[in-house]
Amino acid sequence: MLEKILGHVKQKRILSASVKNDRLAHAYLFTGKDGVGKRSLALEFARLVNCENPDHINFKACSVCLSCEKQSKGLNPDIELVEPDGNSIKKEQITGLLGAQSLSSLFNRYKFIIINEAGKLSRDAVPMLLKTIEEPLQKRVFILIESRADLLLDTIKSRCQTLKFGPLPPEQIKDILVSKGTPVSDERIFEYVIRASEGSAAKALELTGEKCLEVRGYIFTMLEAYYTSRQLLEIKTAKKKFENITVLVTDLLSGFFYDVFKDKTGQGLLCNVDKEELVKKYSKLLPLDNIMNMLSEIDISKSVISRNRILNQDLVLNNILVKGDTRNG
Ligand SMILES: [Zn+2]
Repeated sequence: MLEKILGHVKQKRILSASVKNDRLAHAYLFTGKDGVGKRSLALEFARLVNCENPDHINFKACSVCLSCEKQSKGLNPDIELVEPDGNSIKKEQITGLLGAQSLSSLFNRYKFIIINEAGKLSRDAVPMLLKTIEEPLQKRVFILIESRADLLLDTIKSRCQTLKFGPLPPEQIKDILVSKGTPVSDERIFEYVIRASEGSAAKALELTGEKCLEVRGYIFTMLEAYYTSRQLLEIKTAKKKFENITVLVTDLLSGFFYDVFKDKTGQGLLCNVDKEELVKKYSKLLPLDNIMNMLSEIDISKSVISRNRILNQDLVLNNILVKGDTRNG
């Protein structure tokens, strides 16, 4: 059973109209916020166009016709999805795809070539793709997906019809979480997830994942313990729970201290609504300068980790916490 894609009503309407009027673009660029469903929507669009019983009003393929059936098994040669292989999309991935025979539809419908994270196309793959896009074929559609359109060459962008995707509203994030069976029973944690995800369904799903909630639990145990400063053993135990500092840990820490900053300056909506009490305690304890120093220390750690460097977690956490410690004079 194919899923119904939630949200993005305007984009769906534009795409549906292009199908009904038989005016599909040769190439589309789906850009905008990360994790809002651009890839899912591109795939559903390809299914819909090739479906024998399409439901344009609900933007949904039938899931039972030959094309849908093949697609659900990943066997529809008319819908090709290219994903980065490691950190880039390699020339060979594009060469295979653009071979003369594979460029047109096998079922005499539309051939879709969907390239996810198109900004990762390797330097030698770009000219090949460009050349193909420059020679439009009947019934062949490219969909390039890239949150950061600035990573693509203007010569490519100018040949695409661009559809921008904004953040999803909270109600839709909620619907998506519920539809994925995410068990968030605590209303305040739910509210935290809605705020922290900033309109990205992928982020919301990540935040409600078991591992993420667990790490968050450890971090708050550590922060509570550090605040009272009596439970040194507890800090050590909590810190041991995450052996390596990951981007997730730095994100959670910066989310918390940014809340402390917001409380201190009286600006902005709190993100960790379920931890308001602790936010207020830290905000009362720490001078503004210390909070800002901690935030910039967290940022530094994050950028080092993002470059795939492994950091000693004790050292990192100590560095961060020491920046905020008023007891060090
Ligand atoms: Zn169908």
